[in-house]
Amino acid sequence: MSGRTTFSETLHGDVLLSFTADEVLHEEATEHHRLELIRNAVFGKVLLLDGAVQVTSADEFMYHEMMAHVPLASHPDPADVLIIGGGDCGLAEEVLKHNRVKSLTQVEIDQSVLDFSRRHFSEFNAPVFEDPRFEVRIADGAAFAAQTEDRFDVAIVDSTDPTGPGAALFAPSFYANLKRILKPGGIAVTQNGVPFLQRDEYLAAFGALATVFRHVQSYLVTVPTYFGGHMTLGWASEDVDPANVDEAVLAKRTKDISTHYYTPAHHRAAFVLPRYIQELLDEAKAR
Ligand code: SAM
Repeated sequence: MSGRTTFSETLHGDVLLSFTADEVLHEEATEHHRLELIRNAVFGKVLLLDGAVQVTSADEFMYHEMMAHVPLASHPDPADVLIIGGGDCGLAEEVLKHNRVKSLTQVEIDQSVLDFSRRHFSEFNAPVFEDPRFEVRIADGAAFAAQTEDRFDVAIVDSTDPTGPGAALFAPSFYANLKRILKPGGIAVTQNGVPFLQRDEYLAAFGALATVFRHVQSYLVTVPTYFGGHMTLGWASEDVDPANVDEAVLAKRTKDISTHYYTPAHHRAAFVLPRYIQELLDEAKAR
């Protein structure tokens, strides 16, 4: 397939993010999603699921580094790590950069997204599939969290947005199970979209997280293709307050890890919220 055409992200309804596609590389209905892969001159390969941008070659490092390195650098011994979702495996690549990680379990609902990303995004995910610490389970992450006897030091929820199969990963019952499967001292991180455009989703998710976990915070990442202002990631832990993690300790734990976005100073700064997001977080916690 070739010829220039325009693809618009339909996630936010009233505002569209459009890409010129130099090439439509693939279109498919998988078991759980409508999958599209296009090539854009600025972003390289762009993967959309159900009309929402998931990952692009050019900016994937921003989101994946902040989802992986913030909780892993904050934990004194992140031996056992869980990823829920994350089918493109860019997050797994960042997690496995840490030698302190001894096992990485990834629970992804859609085998096709995984297989597809392995073929089309090998420039960043190839090392994942050669790493003996990596294990994949094809399952609904919410069902897995409800049933598993395994326990994790760090759990990262790299989900689609709260519609379709991703909706289960924003439910209060899921957050309660997330707490259940964390070891003492465990940390969970979630993706919570762009609050300027997804205010109600933000309030619902952080309101629910705050009913379950003692320490709940938002931290920020700015990713060009997740447009609409700052994107928020969620921090949830019974024991670890992100404000108490020392920058020198973060620097020591990440000194051998190559990054292009994450720095220990930025890690600390990412928890400083603009007032409109801080007020939303306060409102969510007061619910
Ligand atoms: N960075 C992306 C974003 O925020 O747009 C998310 C990336 S990743 C591709 C999202 C993955 O979550 C997809 O591969 C999707 O199949 C998976 N997923 C959605 N719902 C799920 C569920 N209930 N359990 C496990 N994986 C799920």
